Parts: sequence; structure tokens; C-alpha cells
Amino acid sequence: EPVLLGKESAAPAGTRTDADAGEAIRIEGLHKSFGELEVLKGIDLNVRRGEVVCVIGPSGSGKSTLLRCVNLLEEPTSGKVTVAGTEVTDPDVDIDRVRRRIGMVFQAFNLFPHLTALENLTIAQRRVLGRDRESAERTARHNLERVGLTDKETAYPAKLSGGQQQRVAIARALSMEPELMLFDEPTSALDPELVGDVLAVMRRLAKEGMTMLVVTHEMSFAREVADRVVFMDDGAIVEEGTPARVVGDPQHARTREFLARVL
Ligand code: ADP
Ligand code: MG
Repeated sequence: EPVLLGKESAAPAGTRTDADAGEAIRIEGLHKSFGELEVLKGIDLNVRRGEVVCVIGPSGSGKSTLLRCVNLLEEPTSGKVTVAGTEVTDPDVDIDRVRRRIGMVFQAFNLFPHLTALENLTIAQRRVLGRDRESAERTARHNLERVGLTDKETAYPAKLSGGQQQRVAIARALSMEPELMLFDEPTSALDPELVGDVLAVMRRLAKEGMTMLVVTHEMSFAREVADRVVFMDDGAIVEEGTPARVVGDPQHARTREFLARVL
């Protein structure tokens, strides 16, 4: 490991350093525009390792764009994003290597319809990580068990409920052994009776120490599981703090208005 001299290390682009070892994500002065539309107006946010941060806010406030800037599904217009010590906004970074360390779960599960649950979990392990079938299947089975779907390994997605499909998607992300997980409204597409099982899996992951940045409208989840809640509106962070503070005792009128609508 290189010796670090303050913030700017001499390590080449994409090299992991132990700078800020306790930090999983550091976002500094992040701006993102789509043409004339400025969607992120200077976001500063750090997530420590093992921390669960929930992002809440009205539709269109930039929550998804923020998440997508962390793994460069969107390219920031300006600002700096560092993931586990690697500056992902460095133009020379090997973004595929960085993405491998970040699990992402979306509202739409995006499973391969022609593959079984087990195969959905092994394909990226084999193609991206180069694991052999045996070790990929071992990891896949372990992760299907973690999400409570051991009995569904041979099922095709069409035979699974939405909640089960989302749990397969979470298990698929876990099979890549990510250092952190991004969730973008993972329960928004689910029938209400299926939401609980997915949240239970996420709650357990949080308990196991996974670093999680979660966009959600599930206020009870945010209240119980988040170490920190961030309220965004119109491309900016309006306030952040403990759930008790932000959800229980919001300081800003915009936060209060939003909570009055969703609670
Ligand atoms: P949220 O997730 O909080 O609902 P988004 O990040 O999806 O918000 O969107 C924020 C704003 O950016 C919205 O006005 C949306 O229409 C716009 N936007 C998002 N993605 C694109 C895109 N690829 N091109 C143009 N506008 C976009
Ligand atoms: Mg969104």
C-alpha cells in the first residue's frame, strides 16, 4: 500500500488506497445537468463503511440521478465522487472494476427471463469474475439462502412473485460480493403485501454490516434501519440527520410538507 500524504495520494488512477478507510462513498460538489436542466445542484454527501443512509424526497428531486452518479451510470457534469478510496470521476479510472464492487438494485428487477434463479446469480460471477461453475453455484446458493429462496433455485422469473424476483435480484448483486449496495426504490413496483419480505432482507443486510445507500419511500424502514436520512428536494440536500431528527422532527418546511404527504 502506498504511503499517504494527506488527501492527494500519488497512487495511479483507479488504484485503491487506504485514504479515508472508513469511508465507502464520498460525494463532493456534485452537479449534473441534462442539457439546460440542472438536476443535481451541488451535492455533498459521505457514507461511512457499514452505514445505512436513506435518501428521501419528492419525485423528480434527483434521487435516482444521485445514485446513478455513484457508479457512473450517469456521468457527473462536475464534482468528485469517490467510492471505497477510488475516485470514480477520475477520467482514467477503470469504471468496470469499480462497478464490480458496487451492488445495485433497481425498482425493475431486470432478471434474465430465460435463466433460472440460480443461473441469474451465476452468469455474472462466471463472465465478469471468471469463477468456475462450481464456485459460482456455491456462492449463488449461499445468497439464495440469505434471501430466503433456497427452494426456488430452478424457478424461472415468470414463475416468481415480484417480491421473490426482487429478492433474486438482491441475491444476484450479493453474489458479486460488493463492498456497498445502492438501492433505488426497490419496493416501489411491488404489490403492498410483497414489500415486507424485501424490506426484511434489506434489514438483515443492514444488520450484517453492509454499507447501503437506499432511495426509498418506506418511512418505517428509514426510521428503523437508517443510521442517517437525507431529504432531497430540487437537486439539493435540504437536511440530513438521524431518522429521529429528519423524519421525527424535521427542521425545514419542505421536509415537513413532503413527510405530510408520504406518512
Ligand atoms: P427522482 O429519482 O428523485 O424522482 P430523477 O433523478 O429520476 O429524480 O430525475 C430528476 C430530474 O432529472 C427529473 O426532472 C427527470 O425528468 C430528469 N432526468 C432524469 N434522467 C434524465 C435523462 N436521462 N435525460 C433528461 N432528463 C432526465
Ligand atoms: Mg427515482
